[in-house]
Amino acid sequence: MVDQKIAKATEERGVLILLKGNGKGKSSSAFGTMARSVGHGQRAAVIQFIKGRTETGEFKLFKDHPQIDWHVMGHGFTWETQDKSQDIAAAEKAWELAEKLLQDDTYDILIFDEMSYMFKYKYLELEPVIKALQNRPEKQNVMITGRVMPEGLEDIADTISSIRDERHAFRLGVKAQEGIEY
Ligand code: ATP
Ligand code: MG
Repeated sequence: MVDQKIAKATEERGVLILLKGNGKGKSSSAFGTMARSVGHGQRAAVIQFIKGRTETGEFKLFKDHPQIDWHVMGHGFTWETQDKSQDIAAAEKAWELAEKLLQDDTYDILIFDEMSYMFKYKYLELEPVIKALQNRPEKQNVMITGRVMPEGLEDIADTISSIRDERHAFRLGVKAQEGIEY
């Protein structure tokens, strides 16, 4: 059954991949896939829509790579947000850049990390994002991470992986570790 379907899969085009769910492994999966693509000589860009607490290992490893452009947006944009108008401005600035990358066919793969929160908090409108994704260069791959994806994005995605939180060391009392959490 699977073999028959593989034989029938002859189309060659970029895919939109959504990595969602409450379990650990969304961003690391996206960056792992990016490493795979860059290893083949492809060109990549990352937009981090939410700036994490620490400089991550992947940022340190990839930021100076000649095939990777890494953008950390949402400076001062934290989980415990204080200033909503500042957050919205940061989200819009990040989207402005994302929209540009989605028109640039020299990028083979784009990672929009934690983008889903922009919709959850209504910092960004979904419609223009969907339009830009649909009109992107044919061979361009896009990966979007975040715990909850808006329905409209799921409707146009090619691959959706939902990572379930079955267990997490955090709840066993293990603190966030360098090299594992960031
Ligand atoms: P990772 O970056 O490790 O792939 P993620 O992108 O799936 O994780 P996020 O929702 O972005 O997860 O959360 C970021 C941070 O929270 C990471 O340090 C991650 O290890 C941690 N984390 C993820 N899921 C859980 C969970 N269910 N309980 C506690 N901490 C978690
Ligand atoms: Mg993440």
